[in-house]
Amino acid sequence: MLNRIPALEGHNVFAGSPLDRCEHLRGNSEKVDALMRAPGTRFICLWKARPMIAPGETLRIQWVNGAMALPLIDGGAAWAFLGTAGGVAHFALDISAEPDPEQGGRFAGLGIFPDLRMSAATLDRGDAAIIAQAKPLIDWHGRRKYCSVCGALTQMRQSGASRVCTNPDCSASHFPRTDPVVIMLAIHEDRCLLGRQAMFPPGMYSALAGFVEPGESLEEAVRREIDEESGVQVGAVRYHSSQPWPFPASLMIGCHALATDPAISLPGDELEEARWFDKGFIREVLAGPRRDELRLPPPHAIAHQLIRSWAAAD
Ligand SMILES: [Zn+2]
Repeated sequence: MLNRIPALEGHNVFAGSPLDRCEHLRGNSEKVDALMRAPGTRFICLWKARPMIAPGETLRIQWVNGAMALPLIDGGAAWAFLGTAGGVAHFALDISAEPDPEQGGRFAGLGIFPDLRMSAATLDRGDAAIIAQAKPLIDWHGRRKYCSVCGALTQMRQSGASRVCTNPDCSASHFPRTDPVVIMLAIHEDRCLLGRQAMFPPGMYSALAGFVEPGESLEEAVRREIDEESGVQVGAVRYHSSQPWPFPASLMIGCHALATDPAISLPGDELEEARWFDKGFIREVLAGPRRDELRLPPPHAIAHQLIRSWAAAD
């Protein structure tokens, strides 16, 4: 049954960056410095982990040029080399030390700083992927100013791709985190399992999800999370697709899983309710006629794509 579920077409929102990350250049500080100071180079500004956006029907990154960015970089602001596109270098810049740009300061009036979770659906797809690279990186530089081994100050390295401890007796290297999260649709015959958290909007159900624990395979994490949240037992697990989720730095790993025992019990307090939904009903919700009867996650969420792919299968 799992083999009949079609693969995702294209990629999930927040993946599919138009940038060449140019990993080979990161250690070449002279070259990267020249790129940073070249005319046409673009900087995405993040204020307290919120990217500056140009308002519009489709939200785009409000890029700034070197004249705006370089004084901050020369003054010690955190930055990271993101890559190039069409020969143009792209950088991320932390402007958190500036006054709230929606209130004043040199970045005032240049752009808006919307809640990304709420506005992800209206973000340009390529820009969303660049934000998914820039936001966790700059956020991480702010959180890793001190060495987690010895407590000494750290310094940025590799054009923003890592940091190193300044204590010569330690010299620990630090790298940005990406936290794996499994998100999965359990299937039993012609039904799928969806759950409801108390914080969800009324009528909304979604796929179950949870962080992968140390020493755990993805398959084991899928089985454990479904069991913990719903009591349902699953066997075979099949990977579907993944999605960077920059809140703050997760990678959602989407799977389908076959239930071996569909009995639901809610042992924990994570879910308010878990239910099996018939495929015919889900198809009508997705197609429109019965969309008022069940609220599913929006198309930019990987949970929606897991449900849609399963519903498309014979
Ligand atoms: Zn250290």
